[in-house]
Amino acid sequence: MSNICFACNGCGQCCQGHHIPLTLQESKCWVMDGGQIVIFVEGYFKGGAGDEDDPMCHIARRSYPVPSGTSVARVIATFAAFNPGRCRYLKEDNRCGQYDSRPLVCQIYPAEINPYIKLDPVIKDCPSDVWSGELPLILRNSEYAPELLVLIERSRQADRDDIQNKVAICEYLNINISALKGHGVTAWLPAASIFLEAFDVVTQDLRKPSLSWNFDSLDDQVRVKLNSIGATVSSSESCGGVLINFKV
Ligand code: SF4
Ligand code: SF4
Repeated sequence: MSNICFACNGCGQCCQGHHIPLTLQESKCWVMDGGQIVIFVEGYFKGGAGDEDDPMCHIARRSYPVPSGTSVARVIATFAAFNPGRCRYLKEDNRCGQYDSRPLVCQIYPAEINPYIKLDPVIKDCPSDVWSGELPLILRNSEYAPELLVLIERSRQADRDDIQNKVAICEYLNINISALKGHGVTAWLPAASIFLEAFDVVTQDLRKPSLSWNFDSLDDQVRVKLNSIGATVSSSESCGGVLINFKV
């Protein structure tokens, strides 16, 4: 679809049951304001396990290289607002209680941040009447409207700028176990105090990632593949994390 019209009606559906990806600074603000964040980790090996083709440019720019056994993995750490139910800022009338300072991703939705994913109204939370042809064009000839594109570029750039510090914060939190990209993610719910401590230490001391990383998978074939390329395999549960498997 090359042209898409849209105007949000404030139904609040997208503010329920979604963990919202945050920039590093937004993560700190979220936690300082009493919110819980969840950290998702996935990784891949260039030209090997978990590798993908076209989207690699976008993925590579928001990943960070770390050793794993005798191999080198690239890990992606996503810090997100933990929203298993209604977002803590969603008011009873389904309006955002932090509208003027809501996260970047909330400002961008329902547009896509990943340049390799096309905006598809069918899979979005928005009701059908907000896509009507009389509403403002947000996508013209497959290009997002300029004001939306500015926000999307800002989000992509934050992903790239933040990844080193996000991985270093993971390591400070004893998180160095990843799932293989495309097969799952490891997930962690850091306590506020230790997360804020990690944030300060990493950003003030300019601490860089330095640990060797492990990979977790429930899939025997994936574990064999990881072993064959020299990566180390371990259980995220042993370090207080959870493996969310996409494929078993
Ligand atoms: S911060 Fe606001 S816009 Fe974002 S999910 Fe929460 S209620 Fe919705
Ligand atoms: S689901 Fe769509 S229409 Fe409803 S609040 Fe979110 S962006 Fe707006």
